[in-house]
Amino acid sequence: MADKKTTLIQSSRGSVFSVFGEEELNQITEEGKRKVAVSGKINEPGIIEVPENATLNDIIDICGGILDKKKFKAAQLGIPFGGFLTEDSLDKVLDFDLFDKNSSRNIIILSEDDCIVQYATFYVDYLIGRIEDSNKSEIYIKYSEVKEEVYRIWRVLDRISKGRSNMRDVYLLRRLSGEIKDKLNQEHNIIQEIIGNFYEEIEEHIDENICKTSQCNHLTKLTITDRCIGCGACKRACPVDCIDGERKEQHYIDYTRCTHCGACVSACPVNAITTGDNTFKFLRDLATPNKLVITQMAPAVRVAIGEAFGFEPGTNVEKKIAAGLRKLGV
Ligand code: SF4
Ligand code: SF4
Repeated sequence: MADKKTTLIQSSRGSVFSVFGEEELNQITEEGKRKVAVSGKINEPGIIEVPENATLNDIIDICGGILDKKKFKAAQLGIPFGGFLTEDSLDKVLDFDLFDKNSSRNIIILSEDDCIVQYATFYVDYLIGRIEDSNKSEIYIKYSEVKEEVYRIWRVLDRISKGRSNMRDVYLLRRLSGEIKDKLNQEHNIIQEIIGNFYEEIEEHIDENICKTSQCNHLTKLTITDRCIGCGACKRACPVDCIDGERKEQHYIDYTRCTHCGACVSACPVNAITTGDNTFKFLRDLATPNKLVITQMAPAVRVAIGEAFGFEPGTNVEKKIAAGLRKLGV
């Protein structure tokens, strides 16, 4: 990948646009006033021509609907700061004025599987990367004057995602995003709009240390899902005896004693215990300018994964994995 910033990274978990390449951006703005690039938790990301009077719902339909038929959560319009739409805008005709005239004409769709704290962190991380690179792009030069506020917002979000925060941090986020909005004379500020629309989710992270989407690593708890067949293997494997449940019924974990050793996950014969999924975080990290992404591979993967790509079972594809990861931007 020659330039991470021009790439649509797509996976079965969704897609991440970091930003369009200059060529693509020119094409969108010159060729059609109604061309928009759509990414995120949709089945068919890409550049589409938005029909007259199309609503956000129509746009999502054109893009094959939301991944796994999940519930719509929000839509971010334009980068760096455009409109931020929530459920009550789904049936309204898309207002093209929501794309800031200096921003890319793109829409990122979030579903109920997206953690709003992680999305905000990605967004600010991305912005920091572009500010550091601002000598390459006129759009971001003006953000240099709010660099300190943006960095402070990132630190607050990082604390929230790690469960090391308190409600004063929400006040701080409000103040800092307000300062940015005033200094840059913005119409929209995504951090302000996220606090306004998803206050309860942020509060849950801070007060209860809960991230329901399991995207905040530090707040992710092992969860026994309804796939549990009540075999008791996890209970027997647990070294601190903190799993309980009746035979043939769903078991449960006493989090006050769990040491996160993972023995139950290995013991479960039906993969009923989830540990969270970081695939999307990985993709967002790849899409973030100036972010160094390093991977580590478990030894068995190199001989286990080839079969899924048509190689003989047991073929060692270590070098192919390494080449693929490099292409992705690792
Ligand atoms: S992670 Fe370890 S300590 Fe926690 S429930 Fe599983 S086996 Fe028990
Ligand atoms: S090992 Fe898996 S299926 Fe068996 S009781 Fe534990 S969670 Fe349920």
